[in-house]
This record gives sequence, C-alpha cells and structure tokens, in this order.
Amino acid sequence: MTDSTPLTLAEKASLASGADFWTTKAVRDIPSVYLTDGPHGVRKQGDHVDHLGVSMSYPATCFPPASGLSQSWNTDLARRVGAALGIEARAIGVNVLLGPGVNIKRHPLGGRNFEYFSEDPHLAGALGAAWVTGIQSEHVGASLKHFAVNNQETDRHRISADVDARTLREIYLRAFQIIVRDANPWTVMASYNRINGVPASESEFLLTQVLRDEWGYDGVVVSDWGAVGDRVAAARAGLDLEMPAADGTDEQLLDAVIEGTLPVEVLDRISDRVRRLAQRAHADTTGAGVPFDVDTHHALAQEAAAQSIVLLKNEDDLLPLNGGTSVAVIGEAAATPRFQGGGSSFVNTTRVDVAVEELRRLGGDAVRYAAGYSSDPAAAGDELLAEAVAAAREADVAIVFIAAPLESEGIDRENLELPADQVALVQGVLAANPHTIVVVAHGGAVQLSAIGSVPAILDCALSGQGGGRAIADILYGNVNPSGRLSETVPLRLEDTPAFGIFPGEHGHALYGEGLFVGYRWYDTRDITVAYPFGHGLSYTTFEYSGLTLDVTDEGIAATVTITNTGSRAGREVAQFYVAVPGSEVTRPVHELKGFATIALKPAQSEDVTVLLRRDDLAYWDTRGETWTLESGDYVVSVGASSRDIRETAIATVVGDVVHVELTMHSTIGELLANPFTKTAIEAALSSAFGAADNPAVGGNVVQMISPSPLHSVVGLLGEAFDAAEFDELLDAANASATTDAR
Ligand code: BGC
Repeated sequence: MTDSTPLTLAEKASLASGADFWTTKAVRDIPSVYLTDGPHGVRKQGDHVDHLGVSMSYPATCFPPASGLSQSWNTDLARRVGAALGIEARAIGVNVLLGPGVNIKRHPLGGRNFEYFSEDPHLAGALGAAWVTGIQSEHVGASLKHFAVNNQETDRHRISADVDARTLREIYLRAFQIIVRDANPWTVMASYNRINGVPASESEFLLTQVLRDEWGYDGVVVSDWGAVGDRVAAARAGLDLEMPAADGTDEQLLDAVIEGTLPVEVLDRISDRVRRLAQRAHADTTGAGVPFDVDTHHALAQEAAAQSIVLLKNEDDLLPLNGGTSVAVIGEAAATPRFQGGGSSFVNTTRVDVAVEELRRLGGDAVRYAAGYSSDPAAAGDELLAEAVAAAREADVAIVFIAAPLESEGIDRENLELPADQVALVQGVLAANPHTIVVVAHGGAVQLSAIGSVPAILDCALSGQGGGRAIADILYGNVNPSGRLSETVPLRLEDTPAFGIFPGEHGHALYGEGLFVGYRWYDTRDITVAYPFGHGLSYTTFEYSGLTLDVTDEGIAATVTITNTGSRAGREVAQFYVAVPGSEVTRPVHELKGFATIALKPAQSEDVTVLLRRDDLAYWDTRGETWTLESGDYVVSVGASSRDIRETAIATVVGDVVHVELTMHSTIGELLANPFTKTAIEAALSSAFGAADNPAVGGNVVQMISPSPLHSVVGLLGEAFDAAEFDELLDAANASATTDAR
C-alpha cells in the first residue's frame, strides 16, 4: 500500500525493533525483513525459534565454517560461497543472513573462533569483503558481526574488552573497516560485549563516530540478539534496529522523544534506514521461492573444503596414497564427521560426505575401517584400541581420524588438548605402523605436539558437509592440497599472546598483549611454534623469484614470479609481509598486507602482482587520532608462510606530513627537530651551556636535555632565552603546519 502521509512518531518508533524473533515489523508500505543465521549455512527455523541453534531448521548446505574457508585464502571462492548462500536464503524468503563473523582470533580458546576467519585483520577483511560481495550480489544482505572486539564467550554479555586505541584500530576494527570500505554490507551487528567499559550497542564512539562519520557507513546497525540494555541510549549512540522483538522499548523511544530527552531526528534516522533496508530487501525478487540446486551447492561445499584443507606435514612423500595400497581407516571421526560447530551457526545439512565411505569409493576393498575410540562413554575403549592397532599392523598405511571436542557459541574452550583416548590411539597405531597419517578436525587451534611424531598430518579445521569427499580426494591425490593456516598453531598454551590474562576477571578483559596477536606475537618474539601462520604443503613445489616493488600513488605494487617446479598442477598462496624497521612507533616484526593465489601447471611460471595499499600500510596515530603513513623504507617480503620467506625487497615511501602542535610543553628535542625553532634553541643552549659535549654533565648536553619540556628548562637557559621572541617562532611553526598538513 502506498500512503503519502508521513509516518507518525509511533510508527517510526515501531520500526526500531523486531516483530518477532527473526523479522522486522511491516509498517504501511514498508515491508517486513526476514533475518536469520548464518554465517556458513542458512538456518531458517520453523515454529520453534531460538538464537542458540537448539531448534532445528530447514535443510541447507553447510559450507566450511570461517575457520575452514579462511584456510583457502581464496577471495574468489569466498565470493562464490557467499553467492550460493544468497541463493539459498532467497529460496526460503530470507532477506538478511547474519554473517560474516570477522572478529579476530585473539586467543585460541575463544569458543567462537571456528566462526571467525583469522588472527590477521587483513586476511579476515579480504575474505569477509568477498563473502559480503557474493551474498549481496544475490540481493540478500549481510550482517557484519560482531561489532566489535567480541573475542570470548566467558561473560560474553557483559565483559569489557579493555583495549588501547592503536590496537583497537589496527587489529580489532580493521577487518570491519576493510569490509565496509570494499563491500558495504546492508547491516552491521553490534556485539554483546563492552569496549573500554561502554556496551557496544550503546557506544556512540563505535556506532557513530567510527562507523558513520569516519567510515561513511550508510546501512542499518542491528543489535545482536538481546544485546540492548538501554534502548534510548542505544538509539542515541547510533543503533537502529533492536532484535529480536522487545517488550516496550519502542514506547521508551517514543516517550523519550515526547519528553525531549531524545531528538526526533534519531527516530527519523532509524525509520529511514530500516525503510531503506526493507526497500533493498524487496527491490529484486528474482529467485525468491525458487528451490536451490542441492547438488550444485554440495559440489561447491566439496570444492571449498578441498581448498581449505591444509597438509601440515608429509615426510618422505607418504601422501598421496597409491591406488593399490592397503589402508586401515581408523577413528570414529572417519564415520561420524565433525565438520561444524554448535550454537547459532548450526546448520541442518542437506547431506554429509562421510570420509570412510569416500575412501572406500576410491580405494575399494583395500580400505578397512576400525572405530578405535567412541564418543559413547559406555563403549569398551580398550577393545576398540586393540582392534584398531591390529588393523593398522595388517595394512600398508594407517589413517587415523581425530577430532577436537565440539566447540560452541557461549562456551570458551578449557585447553588446547586433543582428547586423551584419541592421542593414545594415534600413538598405538603409530607404534604398529610407521606409515601413519593423521586427519584432524577442529575449530580453534589444537595442540598437535602430542601427535607430532606421525609422518603426515592433514588439518581439516571444520570443513563443512563436503569435507569427507575433499579429504578422500586429497589423500588419494585427486586433489592437490592448497590450504594454508589462517591461525598459528602454538606449541603450548603458555606460549600464546594473551596467556594468563584471557578471559579476564571481574568483567574486564585487559588486552595487554596489544598489537601482538597471532603471528605478530610469535614472530616478533621468535617463539617456536608447531606450525606458523600461512603454512601449508602441496604435492608439488613452487619457486619464487625476482620480487620487484613499484611505489605508486596507491601504495606499493609488489610483483614476484612464481614457478611450479614439481610434477603436479597446484595452487600456491603468495603472502606479502611488510616491516618498517626504522619506524617511530612500536611495530610487529612484520605484518601481512597482501596475498594472492595462483594455479600453475608443472613447469608453468607466472607473475603475481599485489597492491599493498597506502591505507593498509598506515598506522593509527594517537597524536592526531588519525591514520599516518610514515615516510621511510618499507621492507616487503613474499613467501609461503610467515616463516618461509622467499624474497625480500625494499621500497622507499614518501608518507604523510604529520604536524604536532608546538607549545611550551614540547620537548627540546621536538623544538630542535622543527626548522622554525631549531636555530633559536641551538643558540640558547650554546649560550647557556657552552660546548655541546660539556664534560660537566657527563656527555652530550643536547642529548641530555632533549627529553625536557621547554617550560621546565626556561630557568636554566636564563637570558639566552627570549620568551616573547620565542612565542613568535612557535606561532610561525604552527601556522606553517596548518598550511602543509594533509
Ligand atoms: C549470536 C549471533 C546470532 C544471533 C541470532 C546471537 O546469540 O551471537 O551471532 O546471529 O544470536 O541467532
């Protein structure tokens, strides 16, 4: 219905919260919008609804969760998965899918790490942007979550992430910023937690200053389900839509406007944005209600899994298997796969590939199965173990499938350990057969050192419903593995960045490790890890040569030649890390600023060019609360992991001109560095103290006095310092700063 009469205040307020668990209200000509989880499959529920994944949903394709998909390092694949999710959502009337989750894996025990892409914001941002572009190309909106600094489940509704400004910008907000910049998601979801004491859903700093004013975001900010504590404060801060349906909060907004404590413009803004969301959601109804092609989407899930699985180790080329090899497939996880996590992301799959069946399909009668362990506590563990060891002894090769316990939203993990019975099984099988391969499924990182002596390990992370086929194809060499770790595998919990301060206490989690998250920590401190960030083997080999750097107005264009030097076609992931050795600020030893994947046939060689953008090279400058690109030498390294650097080159970059206002509180050093004040300060110092290397002060006067603020040494300078004249110099210095500042 069209109606030209403006919406009443009450109608506007009613758009500010959901009609029920998953839908917004239809008001006059503004249709309702259907939102649902996400992110790696559509979870549309029937009559029984919840946000914990408890009640079943319509069958949908379960693509690899973000912890798996990210190991592909393939933005085009992420885009195609996003598009497929869009098609599935449209088919059953879903307008907005609640994903992607792009929080940084601050600590490996974070219970929702399996839903997140990486410990690195650049990788998470690039994959998230591709995913959003994909889903929105099918006229289904994304909901970028959980904004922001939502890195743990312990006390998840109240915990305050206490984080410094630089770390916040460079690590925890950066992926969100990249995705808003590159993909403009229809909605952004404000998280449950607090940031430096302020609930995310009530943070004007986050929702208005950063998201709207700095990043220019024009979509809808929706609350996480049940996150809003004070509706009026949330509206004032910039939160548009409260979900799910709330009791009486629309009236609170209305009353606040009538009482004059909330500007009416806030309600106008909310209703305008929700109206626009509804218009976007219903603008193009192509494909609405059309069943999706289950087979095609399952094939995409298999392809995504195949690109996501990481070959961690492969001594003596144990893999791939030869067709005639007799194989003992061991482990309950080979028959009952673990391929997704629990909670709101839980998908009711259309079908599931089972690894042991897929291996039988390829290996025929040469494949024998033994469970080895059971998740049923009543099962006879010793008998299962003995049976598995016997099977391993009789076979040429043993493949042991192990799986970390189910990870779930709402619960942080307690440790990194793999289940003891599964570790014992691996050790028993290895003793019986040295040709033992381990296939491990998990969400967050697990401690692999317990099984470290096996000659081959395949890391599946969580591989979605097509994982079983992908695993079999990789084991038999039909697919050449090409996944790379998106999270470092530490040796021990004690080595991890936030060890001892995660998950915080009394409602506060102090982010004391600052910028040093993931490989930024391990590599800067040179801590031995089990497997570094970016690591992954192939059945072929790649050579890197001739790295060249070209500084342009956009950044540094880095080009390297990659050659497939082995005998199989394969896909390489070239990773570009940047260091700024002479930096004036603290920096990790290097940081990922670009990557590219390339498929090459044997002996094929191709150039890969990646733009390392100026804004990605900048750091958050707390002096002016802005991004600053430092001038100087940037060391660019390209390699196959953060610890497998193949080529390095240096580019000299002309950065931003930064002006810090000079005052009487500026130090002598700062005044000496400024051309306007330098001469006067030098003259005053020399007149007051004589020679620069005055022995009375045990060394260099200038060096000694440099850290002192001017006001504190004026007395020492005596007549050598003319305050009035100096004021003029300060004014001149500051005036010149305003003219050539950025
Ligand atoms: C989760 C969100 C989810 C929402 C709706 C919340 O508990 O944190 O990720 O989208 O529920 O199910």
